[in-house]
Amino acid sequence: TLSDRLGSVFDKLRGRGALKEQDVRDAMREVRIALLEADVALPVVRRFIDEVTEQAVGQSVLKSVTPGQQVVKIVNDALVEMLGGAETPGLDLAATPPVVIMMVGLQGSGKTTSTAKLAKLLKEKQGKKVMMASLDVNRPAAQEQLRVLGEQVDVATLPIIAGQAPVDIATRALQSAKLQAVDVLLLDTAGRLHVDQALMDEMRAVASISVPKETLLVVDSLTGQDAVNVAQSFAGQVDLTGVILTRMDGDARGGAALSMRAVTGKPIKFAGTGEKLDALEVFQPSRVAGRILGMGDIVSIVEKAAQAIEQEEAERMAERMAKGQFDLNDLRTQLRQMQSMGGLGALAGMMPGMKKAKAAMAQSGMDDRVLLRMDAIIGSMTPKERARPELLNAKRKIRIANGSGTQVQDVNKLLKMHQEMERAMKQIKKMGGLKGLGALFG
Ligand code: GDP
Ligand code: MG
Repeated sequence: TLSDRLGSVFDKLRGRGALKEQDVRDAMREVRIALLEADVALPVVRRFIDEVTEQAVGQSVLKSVTPGQQVVKIVNDALVEMLGGAETPGLDLAATPPVVIMMVGLQGSGKTTSTAKLAKLLKEKQGKKVMMASLDVNRPAAQEQLRVLGEQVDVATLPIIAGQAPVDIATRALQSAKLQAVDVLLLDTAGRLHVDQALMDEMRAVASISVPKETLLVVDSLTGQDAVNVAQSFAGQVDLTGVILTRMDGDARGGAALSMRAVTGKPIKFAGTGEKLDALEVFQPSRVAGRILGMGDIVSIVEKAAQAIEQEEAERMAERMAKGQFDLNDLRTQLRQMQSMGGLGALAGMMPGMKKAKAAMAQSGMDDRVLLRMDAIIGSMTPKERARPELLNAKRKIRIANGSGTQVQDVNKLLKMHQEMERAMKQIKKMGGLKGLGALFG
């Protein structure tokens, strides 16, 4: 698997340090092979590798995992992001009913089946009144197929009238849906074996009279590379709002998903996972990322390792705080934690009641650069000075200001802030240590 391969690339690089550019490049060669084997389109692979390389170079290596594992985690996170991130957007049905959902795609991609699956889901999970209509006049039994599926999921289908053109069927479906106070009207359009102009014209005509709120491209995930060309042609001709990937229950390696998202720029909203009519799931980027990399548990191992290090650090701090100790090393640790949590803005956003504090910080000109500047000032001190700030006389302060590219008054500000924090720590100790603090936040 990919994680084995990355393991061997990184065997030479152990212990702590930063991920070096050449090591990352070696690793990316393996990632590239894995992606191509998973059927990801070549241009998408290139773009992905460039982005991840940039992210990985220079990251410090966690001590309790191998660099290989860590790179897998970075790759995994980037894959999840590229596949749509943590939250898959649902269907947008905010419009005057009947809200139209148009299904498009090649013949055999799973359009008709997905239409019925979606109808079932909307009816059962969202309590919608649904109607389906087949506009497929190319295949003799297509409309009949949808009627039968409609019976199975107990959803109304537009009565079949032989000889009508797709646009006329769509018009009739809209009228009928309005009359019957239908919430959602699903239009199953005709497929073709290949993308051709007649198909695209027909789709556009149907779209212009039915004004779909969602236009979902249905793609067979097993078609891999070919799916990219299909997606590109459709995306260029109609305003897609999302993608449904079918046959994810097969031996698809997930590559189509990555390509699809990159090529259309549209979210993959659902995955078809079987022939049965309840086999439709909200698309899950993390699961597909795992499938592409074939990597089991590595992600969670690395996450735990990162947590463990933070935990260790936090425990050490807690112990010192309980003793009322707080030197400049501790201040620096805190500054860095604030930065790694996304800086002052993110921190203020997370904590209740911090909006005011944030405004105050902004007013006094305090922003994330202040954190960096303070870090630099502490960095210019000797270890002894950090442990015993009272050593800092005028001469030392000038040296430190010069070394960190700041002014003596900045050094003084930092020392004043440290003093205030130290006093607060002693206060906490008096209040009964961290338990007292816990009561404040509990
Ligand atoms: P259409 O031509 O695009 O309308 O495709 P159909 O909906 O008629 O589907 C073609 C075939 O694919 C049918 O036999 C379906 O049962 C099957 N199919 C559709 N979606 C899935 C899926 O997610 N998994 C599996 N295993 N089969 C599917
Ligand atoms: Mg069909």
